[in-house]
Amino acid sequence: MTTARLVYANESGQTFDHPYLEMAGSSGGRWKQVEDDILIPLPPGSELFLLPHRIPVGYDRKKKRFVKVGEDLHNPQNKPQAVAAFMAPAYTQILSAAYHSRQKAPILPLFSYTAVGWQEGQFVVAGVRIDPSVRQDIDQFDLERLERRAKRALGLQGHNRLIQHLGTCALTYGCPAAKNYFLGRWEAPLPTSPQCNASCLGCISLQEGGQICASQERISFVPSPDEIAEVAVSHLQEAEEPLVSFGQGCEGEPLLQGKTLKEAVRLIRGQVGAGTINLNTNGSLPQTIAELRDNGLDSIRVSLNSAREVYYHAYYRPRGYSYSDVRGSIRAMKSKGGFVSINLLTLPGLTDEEGEVEAIIRLIDETGIDLIQMRNLNIDPEWYLREIGYHSAGRSIGILEMMKRIHASHPQVDFGYFNPCLNTGK
Ligand code: SF4
Repeated sequence: MTTARLVYANESGQTFDHPYLEMAGSSGGRWKQVEDDILIPLPPGSELFLLPHRIPVGYDRKKKRFVKVGEDLHNPQNKPQAVAAFMAPAYTQILSAAYHSRQKAPILPLFSYTAVGWQEGQFVVAGVRIDPSVRQDIDQFDLERLERRAKRALGLQGHNRLIQHLGTCALTYGCPAAKNYFLGRWEAPLPTSPQCNASCLGCISLQEGGQICASQERISFVPSPDEIAEVAVSHLQEAEEPLVSFGQGCEGEPLLQGKTLKEAVRLIRGQVGAGTINLNTNGSLPQTIAELRDNGLDSIRVSLNSAREVYYHAYYRPRGYSYSDVRGSIRAMKSKGGFVSINLLTLPGLTDEEGEVEAIIRLIDETGIDLIQMRNLNIDPEWYLREIGYHSAGRSIGILEMMKRIHASHPQVDFGYFNPCLNTGK
């Protein structure tokens, strides 16, 4: 039961709360009633999206059924449109938005679509703050100070192509990690690879199929080990909770630049021992992971849409590697004492389905993962489930219950959103 009202919009994007229908949510395409205990105020820095050619769905408590809102009680001329929230970083969705797609509904762009409602004078969402770190909170960014510091660094280090690239990321694309680099704190990005050996359905840097657009431009060059080390060493020496990460949204797979990365890590660790050197990766090359660890890599984050091979392959469409290599990479890093996170691309209905939860627990049993980063899968849920050939195999127990179940079987495994700094010592 909830007091949150259904939110919908007219074609020009004005939003309204429905006079009596309750907010509803969706889990793997099944509409769900919403309880107040899974609602939080819309986090600062989030956005509201109007979903074209999608009819909003609410819950009628009197009639005890879900209702498609085809007509606007405020203005019968208007065709109500569904609305969803794209939550700010550090928040995980518990239910997706509830709607009915009209025949000619276009595929939605690469964002996540969380259920949103109106309650006591504010927008609320079915989500949870999964990570206390404020590193990407919108109120942490003083844009004037950022511009000043970035322009100064770009002027002083015109010779370094990677710094120039990060300048565009920070000042044009607004990448929070690139902004934190120029603000000298927390996690800094080290993109290196124009190529990839997978072609994910939801790749944000390269979309070959033409059905949807990539939301980021992919880096077009491989920086040298010296250029990488110049960025990383100063950051690890000076930053608060210093951390540098290979594998960013604006590149392909960093493991394909193994030789460059090994040399860069060796150069970095030759100059600074503090902070954490992390690699965000698809985990395709276990041998390269082992060699990077020997050179000083501290942690890896392996991205997974599912711990079930059939859905992993259907989403990643790997070229020249398989899901067993991914598990091999995790084992290689753990066997050498490294720290391992999985970047679990979360979609309510699939991620919390009993079959999926059991598969994740088996993966932890087998490999000894340390942290599960619950990142919302940025994709049109209906298109995604169709494309991976998803068939429900059991109940969806809810995202919060899923975390409880994993924690009960593996209390040592944490949940979060960001890569941790494992060694703040200067
Ligand atoms: S692994 Fe990363 S870069 Fe490669 S296709 Fe997938 S999302 Fe894109």
